[in-house]
Amino acid sequence: MTPAQPVQVVLVTGAGSGIGRASAVLFAARGARVVVSDRDAASAEQTVKHIRDAGGDAHALPADVSHAAQVAALIEGTLTRYGRLDAAHNNAGIEGAAGQTADCPEDTWRRVIEVNLTGVWLCLKHELPVMVRQGGGAIVNTASVAGVAGLPGFSAYAASKHGIVGLTKTAAAEYAKAGIRINAVCPGLIQTPMVDRQTGGRPEVAAQWAAMAPMKRCGTPEEVAEAVVWLCSPGAAFVTGHTLIVDGGLLAQ
Ligand code: NAP
Repeated sequence: MTPAQPVQVVLVTGAGSGIGRASAVLFAARGARVVVSDRDAASAEQTVKHIRDAGGDAHALPADVSHAAQVAALIEGTLTRYGRLDAAHNNAGIEGAAGQTADCPEDTWRRVIEVNLTGVWLCLKHELPVMVRQGGGAIVNTASVAGVAGLPGFSAYAASKHGIVGLTKTAAAEYAKAGIRINAVCPGLIQTPMVDRQTGGRPEVAAQWAAMAPMKRCGTPEEVAEAVVWLCSPGAAFVTGHTLIVDGGLLAQ
């Protein structure tokens, strides 16, 4: 892909739900062929069905992003299916149980870092050589507002997301000469199953959290997807190493 060409083939991880599903659907609506990946095969297939029902082209390839061999197989499978990889949205993530830093169980710490940070690194490790061979590409990693500010009660999550921001900037600087742009998106409070888990499905709690942002509402997964798809588009040809905050103004105050 050269910067002037739209995305032809894109891989989205964590695409069986929330932000990843919305991004897969929007990439497909804009004409890309989409590899829909999630650790849960059934939810990935649901996203594929949604895309195909709307006339798009998508293929499900389940993978746990924290497993090196599964990520390697995911990129191989993408090439087997579509023959190329122009863009990737490395989005799969977990929040981990809430608790103060000293109370965070070691297995929670390790799992959150493995999925959120090592998972993004493993995806980059296998995506970048393909894009280098092709002469370019665009990658967006999902960080969070917790990648640029602390999040009391979620130390492992905030550490993993800050790590994603540092990894994104470093890889962007390294691979710019190869024609590969690498950016991060930092969502604020977005209405997805992840937030439902944290609010226990209680709308009054969600409303309280939403009121913390100047826009006084949760964002939608589709609003984050718009940012991701733009970052991968020719319109963002001079944008790399950037952390794009999509938070209704939360961090602006
Ligand atoms: P979500 O609805 O829970 O979707 C995340 C998806 O990733 C789920 O399908 C999940 O599968 C999958 N996944 C989890 N661990 C995985 C692994 N090891 N390998 C592959 N797939 C895995 O959450 P979301 O809100 O859309 O979150 C997407 C990303 O946005 C995450 O990185 C999250 O940290 C970030 N984010 C979300 C918000 C927000 O307010 N929603 C804000 C900032 C950042 P399971 O359902 O089986 O776990």
